[in-house]
Amino acid sequence: MVKGCIGCGACCRKYPLFASKADAEREPLIRKEAHELPERVQDKTRAYELHRLPDQEACIFNDQNNRCRIYATRPAMCRNFIPSPKACQAARERIAGR
Ligand code: SF4
Ligand code: SF4
Repeated sequence: MVKGCIGCGACCRKYPLFASKADAEREPLIRKEAHELPERVQDKTRAYELHRLPDQEACIFNDQNNRCRIYATRPAMCRNFIPSPKACQAARERIAGR
């Protein structure tokens, strides 16, 4: 867990969560388990959707303890989320629908 993270899991829930082709090359489970977007809508950062269904509560790699199953090789989008009171509160408010 990164510094400042209390493991609430909010940033791994109900966000538009995507992985790139480069992410999938680094972590084969992305290609195996995530939903690949049609070529025409892919871009440099978005090639795989990490929610299998639109109403799915959390990323497919978020386990029942709110831990990431691919933490060491997680997508760039996840690495770029820097925990801070403001960012984490915004994530919590977003899943609460506020
Ligand atoms: S929202 Fe912040 S505290 Fe919660 S899991 Fe993500 S990084 Fe950790
Ligand atoms: S890949 Fe891991 S860190 Fe990224 S959203 Fe999914 S569970 Fe969270």
